[in-house]
Amino acid sequence: MSKGITSRAEDYSQWYNELVAKADLAEHSAVRGCMVIKPYGYSIWEKMQAALDKMFKDTGHTNAYFPLFIPKSFFTKEASHVEGFATECAVVTHYRLKNDGNGNIIVDEDAKLEEELIVRPTSETIIWNTYRGWVQSYRDLPILVNQWANVVRWEMRTRLFLRTAEFLWQEGHTAHATSGEAIEEAERMLEVYADFAENWLAVPVIRGIKTPNERFAGAVETYCIEALMQDGKALQAGTSHFLGQNFAKAFDVKFTSKEGKLEHVWATSWGVSTRLVGALIMSHSDDQGLVLPPKLAPIQVVIVPIHKTDDDLARIGQFADGLIAKLKSKNISVKYDDRDTQRPGFKFAEYEMKGVPVRIALGARDLENNTVEIARRDTREKQTISQEGLDLYIENLLTEIQQNIYNKALEFRTQNTREANSYEEFKKALDETPGFISAHWDGTPETEQKIKEETKATIRCIPLNNKKEEGVCIYSGKPSSQRVLFARAY
Ligand code: AMP
Repeated sequence: MSKGITSRAEDYSQWYNELVAKADLAEHSAVRGCMVIKPYGYSIWEKMQAALDKMFKDTGHTNAYFPLFIPKSFFTKEASHVEGFATECAVVTHYRLKNDGNGNIIVDEDAKLEEELIVRPTSETIIWNTYRGWVQSYRDLPILVNQWANVVRWEMRTRLFLRTAEFLWQEGHTAHATSGEAIEEAERMLEVYADFAENWLAVPVIRGIKTPNERFAGAVETYCIEALMQDGKALQAGTSHFLGQNFAKAFDVKFTSKEGKLEHVWATSWGVSTRLVGALIMSHSDDQGLVLPPKLAPIQVVIVPIHKTDDDLARIGQFADGLIAKLKSKNISVKYDDRDTQRPGFKFAEYEMKGVPVRIALGARDLENNTVEIARRDTREKQTISQEGLDLYIENLLTEIQQNIYNKALEFRTQNTREANSYEEFKKALDETPGFISAHWDGTPETEQKIKEETKATIRCIPLNNKKEEGVCIYSGKPSSQRVLFARAY
């Protein structure tokens, strides 16, 4: 194995970049801001997709697919939506190239589109234009549709997985007869995301609502889950929007209610993206490489034979075959690495870098003693244990690792969430011990903006389970009835 990576303490951002490269997750592409997701990184995303897709279906949703291109006229129909996305749109203007006669391939100006097409940054507009044809009466509602797709947002400052110009995501788009039903849906999907983050990613999240400043363009309310990374910066990990009747009005989507009245339809949309892979990396990994929660690890267990002779290897292989069969029957993914091109030490370091939760080393002496050596990636502890009941032991160990990783992240978040009761305290906390800061705010966009300009900290959310508490705004000194959560964020 090539030498290790920069430590987190030395340079967190460098650590992240080197880890993504060395764990073989992704790389920069020839296209600015767009990444190549490599097979190992993509298999983590596939595991996320599978789990989320099941959760969406269990809550009544089905998948569909809408076009990549959105006519500009659709895009401009909802005023605040277009305003929010205008500065980061990729626009298709032509549909043909030609040879200029000198051997150069150029854009054919005769092939200019009559109407420009926007490469979707999100699909509310094309979908609500479609829903107009799907809804006549209350009997056609609700529509509970999800789409798995790629989207493009021309981001100027990008970072692998966390913020890319093209990213993969899912976007749910639902239509309802009442405001109450739509709000319930937006809240339900927020809870699905929180459940996924905590029980699959092993990342504890704060459920909250965004301030008007940070709201999705076109939404009435934006719900979000916020996570804390190991450098004390926050990451928005998922959003669920209550869109009111904004898109139904813009696209004239009406239905006849039970009472026979013609009304506009109520909407939600919700999404999580490949950013979650970044959240996963930044939450758990260490200076030796990736640490993966077992539930999302493409390989959960790796078996490395340690042998001197071919005869040893054959006997170890035989034992491994039996163990693999037992683990597979428990739905545990296992790899037997008997490559003779690499030494065991190299393999150990490689699987550490790749975050494989459990490593088993098996030598000739283990076969004689009825033992194996097990190393867990989260704590890096090694133990020699009996072969008796090994499959059950591993199954339990995977559950324990999943829980331990979550507990560790939760403890980190608890230790790095503080209250600040004055602006001085607030600024000191941000610089000395970054993390979530819970503080009073007067509720105005002006104060929020000032704090952001002066400290780079933003209001991550107003937590959903917030206690009412009388206080004064740390910035303006005006009265406030609750604390909100600030942090510097990705
Ligand atoms: P939004 O449609 O803005 O509410 O975003 C939906 C989801 O996509 C959120 O979970 C965001 O965290 C994520 N997201 C937004 N922009 C990007 C980006 N440039 N790269 C990766 N994920 C993103």
